[in-house]
Amino acid sequence: MRRKLAAGNWKMNGLTADLGEAETLATRHPDPRSEVVICPPATLIAPMAARLAGSAVGVGGQDCHAVASGAHTGDIAAAMLADVGARHVILGHSERRADHHETDAAIAAKVTAAWAAGLTAILCVGETEPDRDGGRTLDVITAQLDGALPEGAQADNTVIAYEPVWAIGTGRTPSAAQIREVHIHLRDALARRFGAIAAEGIRLLYGGSVKPANAAEIFAIADVDGALVGGASLKASDFGAIIAALDAA
Ligand code: PEP
Repeated sequence: MRRKLAAGNWKMNGLTADLGEAETLATRHPDPRSEVVICPPATLIAPMAARLAGSAVGVGGQDCHAVASGAHTGDIAAAMLADVGARHVILGHSERRADHHETDAAIAAKVTAAWAAGLTAILCVGETEPDRDGGRTLDVITAQLDGALPEGAQADNTVIAYEPVWAIGTGRTPSAAQIREVHIHLRDALARRFGAIAAEGIRLLYGGSVKPANAAEIFAIADVDGALVGGASLKASDFGAIIAALDAA
């Protein structure tokens, strides 16, 4: 039985004054059925982990470097995230693929580094709007999964987030049938590469404009094990409503 997961991606939002939102969330959801993680900007990982210590809400990073240490100004190693309390790291987010020209091979190296540091990688895949309009969605996602997920993926080190690029921050979401089609495809692709046992255990999240208003509908789709939530994870009231919908699904 896969435990559901609600992961919040604060992106480049949040100052120390906003840590109270995370504390409020943890106070309102002391014992959720679902696993709950917030991935704040790197500057807030340590203080957020300290403020949430002992609560049911975990903390994660939004990226890590592929190597353990060295001359990489401005970058953060996976072990550094783990050192300050992160247990997860988002990798291959479409904003990093676009802003930092991250390739699948580069992302795969980061996933390997995350695993070596004991972190669970939340690997993002998803098609652009031209990909979908051109009927290439499943091919694009297969290529991303094959290229960015190294050998060794298993239930306790990997989560896959299906995030259609055109749905992120736009208020648009795919139909239930479209989400289901991709999730079935992902589960099959994982089974072919890693075997049925690993594939059955790896959680598949949907991400892209998940809000309190549409969460229950999305979580009712078979094979959706939770959500990666951007904008709606910034406020305890919104993210809390999404967690409640996931717990009830
Ligand atoms: C995201 O950035 O991963 C995301 C899903 O964003 P939003 O929920 O704001 O669409």
